[in-house]
Order: sequence, then C-alpha cells, then structure tokens
Amino acid sequence: MSEKANAQEFDVLVLGGGSAGYAAALRAVQYGMTVGLVEKAKLGGTCLHWGCIPTKAYLHAAELADDARNSEKYGVKTTFEEVDMAAVKSYKDGIVAGKFKGLTGLMKMKKVQVIEGEGKLVSQNEIEVDGTRYSGKNIVLASGSQSKTFGLPIGGKIMTSTEALELDYTPKSAIILGGGVIGSEFASAWNSFGVDVTIIEGLDHLVPNEDPAIIKVLEREFKKRGIKTNLGTFFEKVEETGDGVKVTLADGKEFTAEVCLVAVGRGPVTEGLGYEEQGITLDRGFVITDERLHTGVGNIYAVGDIVPGLQLAHRGYQQGIFVAEEIAGNNPLIVEDVNIPKVTFTDPEIMSVGYSETKAKEEFGEDAIEVTEYNLAGNGKSSILGTGGIIKMVRQKDGPIVGVHGIGKRISEQIGEAQLIVNWEAYPEDVATFIHAHPTQNESLGEAAMALNGHPLHG
Ligand SMILES: Cc1cc2nc3c(=O)[nH]c(=O)nc-3n(C[C@H](O)[C@H](O)[C@H](O)COP(=O)(O)OP(=O)(O)OC[C@H]3O[C@@H](n4cnc5c(N)ncnc54)[C@H](O)[C@@H]3O)c2cc1C
Repeated sequence: MSEKANAQEFDVLVLGGGSAGYAAALRAVQYGMTVGLVEKAKLGGTCLHWGCIPTKAYLHAAELADDARNSEKYGVKTTFEEVDMAAVKSYKDGIVAGKFKGLTGLMKMKKVQVIEGEGKLVSQNEIEVDGTRYSGKNIVLASGSQSKTFGLPIGGKIMTSTEALELDYTPKSAIILGGGVIGSEFASAWNSFGVDVTIIEGLDHLVPNEDPAIIKVLEREFKKRGIKTNLGTFFEKVEETGDGVKVTLADGKEFTAEVCLVAVGRGPVTEGLGYEEQGITLDRGFVITDERLHTGVGNIYAVGDIVPGLQLAHRGYQQGIFVAEEIAGNNPLIVEDVNIPKVTFTDPEIMSVGYSETKAKEEFGEDAIEVTEYNLAGNGKSSILGTGGIIKMVRQKDGPIVGVHGIGKRISEQIGEAQLIVNWEAYPEDVATFIHAHPTQNESLGEAAMALNGHPLHG
C-alpha cells in the first residue's frame, strides 16, 4: 500500500459515511491504507442521526414515563405530569450531537480524509464529487437506505421515521403503517408518551420475521398496553383531512388519526449513482455481490443496507470491517445473516439469533430439531422488574443450539451470550455446565439450556 497519497488518490475510497462505510474506513487506516470517504450529509448516517440512536433515546424516555406512572406498584410514590416532547427531542438531539462530534473527531484523528459532497461512481476506480474526480485502488460502496413511501405524500401529517423523530409535540393519535421492527418500536414509544396508536399491518402478524412464540407474546403485551392492531389487510389509500389523516384499507375499512407514520420498510439508495453504468448488477435497487461482498467489477465492494439482507447497523459495521480485512489480504470469516444478532427495542424487548423453530424445521427437517421454552415467570430478576416473557431455544437433535430467542423487559442484554452460543455452535450440555449469576435474567439462558439437555432445574 502507498505510504502517503495526495488528496485525490487513495488505497480505499468509500462512498457513504454511515455505519458500514465508516467502519470500512476506520479498519482500512488501521492497516496503513490511505482512505477517502465521501459523505453528502452527516458522518454516522441513518443509524446515528435518524435511526438506532435517536429511537433508542425516545424508547428510554418512554420507559421512564411508564416507570413514573407505575412506580407505586413498587412502593415509590410519584406524580406523573406529562411528556414534554420538545424536551425529549432536545435530550435525543444532545445524545446524537455528542456521538457525532466524537465520530467526526475520530475520523480526523485516524486521518480518514472526509470529502463532503454528493458522490457518483464515474469509472471502476473513480468517484466524482462536485466536479472533482477522486480515485481509489479499491472502492467501497456504502450509500445506505431510505424509507420506502409507496408514493405517499410525505410532509405535514404523513411522515416517515425521519420526520417523526423531529416532532416537538405529542400527537393525540397515530396510525402506523407497518408492524415490522421500526413500526413496532414507534408504537411502543408513542403509546408510553400517551399517543393513541393503531398499527396497520398487511401480513398476519407484527415483527413477522421472529419466532411464532415470541410474536404471540408481543401481540398479547401490546394489546394489554392498549396498542391497537389491524392485521392481515394492506392499506390502499392515505389522505390528509382537515385536522388529521384518513387511511383506507383494501377491504374498505377506514381509520382516522392525527398523524400517520409510514414504516413499510427501507429501500436502497443506489439510483443515479453510476453503479449500473459501471457494470454492477442491481436487483430492485440492491447491489448484488458474491459472498465476499465483491461486486464482480474491478476492485469494487458493497456493504451495509445496499446489500440484500438484514438492515442492521452492526451488520453494516461487520461488513465494513470484513471488506477492509479482505482488501488487506487477511481472508476474514464470512458471517451468515442468520447468525447476526437482532434486537427489537419495544416494551417488552425482543432478542433473537439463529433459526426460529419454523426456519429450523425448514432447514433441518421437522423431526430433526428440539425446542424448549423457559417462562420468565420462574426467573427472580424478571419478577423484580415486573416482566413476563419467555426464552426459547432451538437445537438440532443431538447437535448444537441453532437458535436463541427471547422476549421480556431488558431482555436485549441477553443477546451477547445468545449470539456466542449460536455462533460457537454450543451444545445445550456445554451451556448448562456454565454458571449464570443469581439473580439475573441471564439465568434464564442457563435454565433453557438445562431443559434442552433434559435436566431442567426449576422447570
Ligand atoms: C428508525 C430506525 C431505527 C433503527 N434502529 C436500529 C437499531 O436499533 N439497531 C440497528 O442495528 N439498526 C437500526 N436501524 C438500521 C440502521 O440504521 C441501518 O442498518 C444502518 O444505518 C445502515 O448503515 P449503512 O452505512 O449501510 O447506511 P446509512 O446509515 O444509510 O449510511 C449511508 C450514508 O451514505 C450517504 N450517501 C448516500 N448517497 C451518497 C452519495 N451519493 N454521496 C455521498 N454520500 C452518500 C448518506 O448520506 C449516508 O450518510 C434503524 C433504522 C431506522 C430508520
């Protein structure tokens, strides 16, 4: 690799400074490569400014609101007054600004050259930004994703998650189109903020990619919290009325509310960026790569949300690191999407990694798997926290654990051990012999493993 590049030639040139792009840049400089990174908006991308971080700040405020409402149950008398949305927004903005400052400083310190502006791939090793051509011996495409809108008029009372995160008031009521992860997280936060929420989901269930047992608990808990759902029918029309919105479904049913959040998935940002002109294959806008994230054109790789699969920040980080390692010649290990840990930060939270029972049956055969469900009612810490829920483990018969799933307040913290179990292909008997500290929710993983090993302790 070159010792030092001039301002326009790099060992690695990255298009897009979100989770995937900046991770590739940081890892590449660690190997002594010179790196240019083109960003048209803000370093940190969707996750930092309009995704993971702001929504989790809202969900934390939501948890506090519920704790204040419910504290008497624990013998603590408080008076819940209101949610001051402008103040919640300013708390969220402060967190984002702090992280943005840190990231900007880190890129500078590590000598990643950030090129501000909108980039376009103009040859197999060049990106043009505002009339200047920058070249890279290797190019990493990381232009990310944006909300799908199906042509709905975004603005005013009809919004995507990006606009919803800028609201400085709490709407009285909201219709959320889409009961996937983003729609369900907003439903959870808004309900805690006092919004009357209705989720419209075209499929038969919320968070449809999760294990059926987990979905059942979420739907039950949402119902208990007063979150309304209309499942199994797609929406047809969304209109702004004088003081709100009206949503009409395919079966003619109508719903009205003050605002409408469109959370029907995210599509890739690849249009007009020169990818196809350079011979890169796109499928519905997504960049097609081989399993080593190479596009098959020149030394061009693609990472993050533009590559079909799970749209998660940590998948983007991992792919960014992977590509930098690949360019450095380190032959990194491929991590399959199924083994990527997932968390939905609703109340109750969901964590999962590996195969659901349904997917495991498809993959290994109906009779080739065993499952166990451990009810959090038997877990001391969960009772202290006032949460129900379950841990579900799936194993191959006489083989390793291939899926760990959980639902309950704070259960996201268990994803660490869950993902080690699945990715290290641990057997229930391995996990059962390890000690899980008492009283923690972590014990529930040990209990589930013991049950799957045929020797439940408290079961
Ligand atoms: C509401 C919401 C909540 C989420 N919560 C979570 C969560 O809790 N956990 C989780 O793991 N994931 C979450 N995600 C998903 C996560 O944000 C994405 O998976 C992640 O940001 C993808 O990273 P990326 O680098 O591929 O793309 P992005 O983060 O979208 O970054 C792409 C970058 O490229 C830039 N860019 C695009 N085109 C150009 C161009 N032509 N020139 C220059 N720059 C360009 C963009 O400005 C952007 O900064 C959430 C997403 C949303 C919307």
